[in-house]
Amino acid sequence: MSELVTKVPEVVLAVYAHPDDADVACGGTLALWARRGSAVHLVVCTDGARGTPDPDMRPAELARRRAGELAEAAGIVGLASHRVLGATDGELDRRPTLVGELVALVRSLRPEVVLGHDPTAVFFGQDYFNHRDHRAAGWALLDALSPSAALPHYFPEAGPPHQVSVTYLSGTLEPDVWVDVSETIEVKAAAVECHRSQFAGAEAGWAAEAVLRRAEEEGRRAGVAHAEGFRRLRLGG
Ligand SMILES: [Zn+2]
Repeated sequence: MSELVTKVPEVVLAVYAHPDDADVACGGTLALWARRGSAVHLVVCTDGARGTPDPDMRPAELARRRAGELAEAAGIVGLASHRVLGATDGELDRRPTLVGELVALVRSLRPEVVLGHDPTAVFFGQDYFNHRDHRAAGWALLDALSPSAALPHYFPEAGPPHQVSVTYLSGTLEPDVWVDVSETIEVKAAAVECHRSQFAGAEAGWAAEAVLRRAEEEGRRAGVAHAEGFRRLRLGG
């Protein structure tokens, strides 16, 4: 039977590669928990400066636009904070400081629940394979959570150790729990639509329609109207 997550965490940290990733991956869950009183924090690793097929768009200008889109979406979702680490888009695996930066954030925000990319998901059917930054962000996050953030002799300058209880990995090929996001699916659609730079040329409403279709598919697996699926890791025992 499909297991639904119903517990609302107090403090949540989402770590994603690009400015639009969290809204696409888990915007319904983040909005639901924020609405229920969670303090939901988002860390975006890269500035997304290369995310365009337009040769005339300057990367610095795209990064600026995407920061604005991110801030607008964060307001809609109800995030407690969001920040951009500013790694080079497409080169996240070449940022040697990333694990340490994530350890410092985990130890400072002290979340009970963390969300991020499933780095083991590579091929999605015949039409898509996972972006290298998603894989890099997912592995760096897992390495930061366990053992690094939890043990004092890893990154001793990054604050007192903190053990995250549960990690939910999105964009996974092996979801084993679902969150019922029927209540916030419209919020998610509105947040995803903020990332206009990513849908240039698409018909108006295309992104929201895609969000609804995908959430209905996951909802059928979970036995609810709209859902987001995750691979769960119980790191805290
Ligand atoms: Zn992305």
